[in-house]
Amino acid sequence: MIIINYLYIGIDDTDSPDGMCTTYLACDIIRRLKEKNIDIVGYPRLIRLNPFARFKTRGNGGVSFKIINDEKVDLAKEIVLDEVSKLSMFDCDNTNPGVIFYDGEITKEMEDYAFKAIYSFITIEEAEKFGKSVGCEIHKFKKGRGIIGSIAAISLPLNDYTYELLAYRAPENYGTKRQIDYVSVMEMDKETFPDTFENVDYSEGYIAIEPKTPCPVLYGIRSNNVESLNKAKDIVEVSEPIEDYCIFLTNQHTDMHIQKTDNISQMEQFGCYEITVTVKDNPHVIDGGHMFFKVFDETGEIECGAYEPTKNFRKIVSHLRAGDVIKLYGGIGEQNTFNIEKFQVIELNDVEYRNPVCECGKRMTSAGKGKGFKCKKCGNRIKSSQKVKFKIERSLNNGKFYETPVSARRHLSKPICRM
Ligand code: ATP
Repeated sequence: MIIINYLYIGIDDTDSPDGMCTTYLACDIIRRLKEKNIDIVGYPRLIRLNPFARFKTRGNGGVSFKIINDEKVDLAKEIVLDEVSKLSMFDCDNTNPGVIFYDGEITKEMEDYAFKAIYSFITIEEAEKFGKSVGCEIHKFKKGRGIIGSIAAISLPLNDYTYELLAYRAPENYGTKRQIDYVSVMEMDKETFPDTFENVDYSEGYIAIEPKTPCPVLYGIRSNNVESLNKAKDIVEVSEPIEDYCIFLTNQHTDMHIQKTDNISQMEQFGCYEITVTVKDNPHVIDGGHMFFKVFDETGEIECGAYEPTKNFRKIVSHLRAGDVIKLYGGIGEQNTFNIEKFQVIELNDVEYRNPVCECGKRMTSAGKGKGFKCKKCGNRIKSSQKVKFKIERSLNNGKFYETPVSARRHLSKPICRM
């Protein structure tokens, strides 16, 4: 049996809010490797990590790919380090690139490390110690924070995965308005959804494939398979040059950041969870348009938030009422509130207790504590103080999922169309 030995390459933290994108850098490196007849094996990977990580630029993504470990690896390493040195946004304080080379098997402890990078926080020192202990070759630029994500990007197993096709702009156009024909994007969505998804937010009139930052990405299309990406690419029309395309295998839209729990008291700040709870009070809006309500289980209670950027989702949330049982998906953020990404209705509380209706048709009022009810119209009285059970109409449906709009969705959140 021939055992193929790979060199894994992980790269992270090369960009800043003013420019660059680690995926672009990877695409550039892959092109340069190809010029030297070094092909990568499979697709490059774009791995999203803890959405609450403090120093993220945008979506906390690290990149990795692998090549065959042969006599060309030294040349490959040189090309990778050269390009990271040339293209990273070193002027930004928060840009601290890290590159990892690793030529062994991906072990269980490396996989565990990767999940830790999604679920919680890792320090640069911890990453360095761990990387050395498993035999990674570590390259830190400036503080080298990128090694945290680079090791995770190499190590994460992908049981569920999606793809993203990224189109990159010609450098002379960086920072200018992107020349994308929006009608063609909607046409592409119509032709390829739900194989592709997150293309357009119709509720907010928002073209989601177009970034809003001055980065090299012209557009990014997300999908369950490569065939539909190629189809989508042919439909989207642009009137500016495309320097290159690259398809990444990703953990985007897999809910990989979500941990299942059945215990509110075990949930921690900056963790993301799936949990079944009961609504305690009816949702209310505060200044700024954020919507809040409390939920509980037998171990405790927590405040949930549907924040202003979730737009119309707040309207859906406003239909929840005390006593509803729901399955929540989301994370506990800065303010210690549970930020809802989506929820499934398990059982609606469609029961309301009201005063009885009098024979004359008028709703009765209380006749005083423990004294039953009286009718103000005809004077009729009932001795029992027992209210009457009514079934009420609800605009939510049992079993149904409700989610934030595309414009407010996290990279890792699994959209309903993938559930
Ligand atoms: P983009 O999405 O545009 O590539 P980004 O949002 O991924 O940018 P980075 O520039 O990569 O942001 O910065 C994120 C930093 O956070 C990296 O240095 C990465 O190593 C680090 N990081 C990732 N996960 C964790 C974690 N769990 N704990 C601590 N640091 C982390």
